Amino acid sequence: MRAGRVVFIGAGPGAADLITVRGVRRLAQADVVLFDALTDPALRELAPGALWIDVGKRGFCEATGQDTINALLVSHARQQRHVVRLKGGDPSVFGRLEEELLALAAAGIECEVVPGVTAALAAAAETRRPLTRRGTAGAAGRSVSLSTAMTRQARLHAGRHADTEVFYMAGRQLGALGRALRQAGWADDAPVCVVSRAGWPDAVSSEHRLRALAAAAVLHAGRPTVVTVGAGAAALAQPSGPPGLESAPAGRALAAP
Ligand code: SAH
Repeated sequence: MRAGRVVFIGAGPGAADLITVRGVRRLAQADVVLFDALTDPALRELAPGALWIDVGKRGFCEATGQDTINALLVSHARQQRHVVRLKGGDPSVFGRLEEELLALAAAGIECEVVPGVTAALAAAAETRRPLTRRGTAGAAGRSVSLSTAMTRQARLHAGRHADTEVFYMAGRQLGALGRALRQAGWADDAPVCVVSRAGWPDAVSSEHRLRALAAAAVLHAGRPTVVTVGAGAAALAQPSGPPGLESAPAGRALAAP
């Protein structure tokens, strides 16, 4: 039997207009869309005739979710449908893309991956703090790492691998992340930016010194959050006066809804 195909599309981090033009075009061709919890419901208007299936954490239990999603992808594609797998941010960044590509390869099903704006980039845009810096106004930022603080055993793990590090999935453990980063060699007063719901109209961002990162917990509670530490978290030097962090030892909101 001839199989259909599966297109993985990065929906971007928030508002529907952050998806790519290619993503919009592929979505419009979908017969079936398997979507995640963090994608904007407004995207449905781009494929109104498709069958939309919620495979986010709220729709399926964590323990069996991945196998179920893999099976749904394979079975819909085998019915010669155009299947879209819509993922928040970029599919290749903490998106379980590996598991799904392997399942489709094993079933001999053709795939395409359309990239999206990952949360780290949306957070940098939100705060207008470039992730890479030439070092003209302080520490140079030549390297950026995207990390998750959570291991598969749900233990917290943090290191120091780049001039700028962006941590995903650490929103519930900001205090512990701060301690782990200091143990990994980051200075007590290293600049940190915390951004939740980046790319949405109600995005919130705050800036902190590393020693006071725990203070961000209340502000961002219950929201998808990324934490940027190092060169890319520093405020840009102002033409006059000191950078904003100097006056904000306990954390300061950069923008509120
Ligand atoms: N593939 C996604 C990441 C999925 S993992 C991407 O490329 O962005 C889920 C984690 O992503 C969340 O725990 C949070 O750390 C981060 N995240 C997703 N959307 C976000 C947003 N709009 N603002 C801030 N962090 C976000």
